[in-house]
Amino acid sequence: MAIPLLEKYREFLSVTDETPIVSLGEGDTPLLPAPELGKKIGAEVYLKIEGCNPTGSFKDRGMTLAISKAEEKGTRAVVCASTGNTAASAATYAARAGLRCIVLLPEGKVALGKLAHISACGAEVVAIQGNFDQALEIVRYLISAFPVEVVNSINPYRIEGQTTGAFEIVDVLGNGPIYQAMPVGNAGNITAYWRGYKTYQAAGKLTRLPKMLGFQAAGAAPIVQGKPVPNPETVASAIRIGHPASWETAVQARDESGGIIDAVTDEEILAAYQLLGSVEGVFCEPASAAGVAGILKLAQEDFFRPGDIVVCIITGHGLKDPDTAIATSSTPTALTADRQAVADHLGFSP
Ligand SMILES: *Cc1c(COP(=O)(O)O)cnc(C)c1O
Repeated sequence: MAIPLLEKYREFLSVTDETPIVSLGEGDTPLLPAPELGKKIGAEVYLKIEGCNPTGSFKDRGMTLAISKAEEKGTRAVVCASTGNTAASAATYAARAGLRCIVLLPEGKVALGKLAHISACGAEVVAIQGNFDQALEIVRYLISAFPVEVVNSINPYRIEGQTTGAFEIVDVLGNGPIYQAMPVGNAGNITAYWRGYKTYQAAGKLTRLPKMLGFQAAGAAPIVQGKPVPNPETVASAIRIGHPASWETAVQARDESGGIIDAVTDEEILAAYQLLGSVEGVFCEPASAAGVAGILKLAQEDFFRPGDIVVCIITGHGLKDPDTAIATSSTPTALTADRQAVADHLGFSP
């Protein structure tokens, strides 16, 4: 049986003998070489495939710890606001632990695969007629007034659990990469990775800290613009956030590492999304392609040097958002059930 993530990295996490570990086999995701992408940007590229987690996104790394600690504390109910993946993860781990799970979603803005997953795992769903940021404000009220535990990344265990992504990368590469690229939404994950690398540095497990490259969607780029975005819009629904909860620590990660937080357009995101699928065989959700869109953009200015090691965090699985996959693909050719017609169409001559 796979060792739970929280056991494997126990010495770096708030896990005690009293912590009931709620695990579904999260973590230990592939660090996949991406040679074609590497050729395009002129560096050595690896993709950290976080869609291989039990609920198809990196959120599980933080959720296993947040739910385990909630159970340890005797919590009966958990709540989150979510663009979809946090809720899918919360619903799943709460089901496993036997906890009540309440999720607040921005109405009409959550990808279909996520909605399906949340329902299947029995969470109580409230569709808020507003955006993620407004839903999170309501969650802040609920936890201040009622006996319910938040499992958004404002719960410190979420970010702590997500530091394990950095540990795994270093365990494979033997050191920090030169650059790490990733999407930035509520900014918990860039905070977590940077903290993870620094934790490993303090433990003598790496000698090189990466430069952190974070990318927001152009229509939802508060950190890039230096001010909250009241009505964020992007095809990358997982990063459709106008007022990130971990704003300051994301800026810290950027500045301490000597990195960049920049914006990429929806067109750039979808181009990277299709490139990943068609050239590297990696089917991710749109938000997950933002980091790749970002390095492609930087490469246009000859940003990278040969031999640079660039890790992109591919944050969620493509099946999360089937609508975008279908909308961006060509329509199939309809033919009669005639073998000659099919062979002709395919350009096969006898
Ligand atoms: C949550 C999420 C993000 C954004 O991560 P933050 O920690 O909110 O910055 C990016 N991609 C996917 C697929 C996500 O689920």
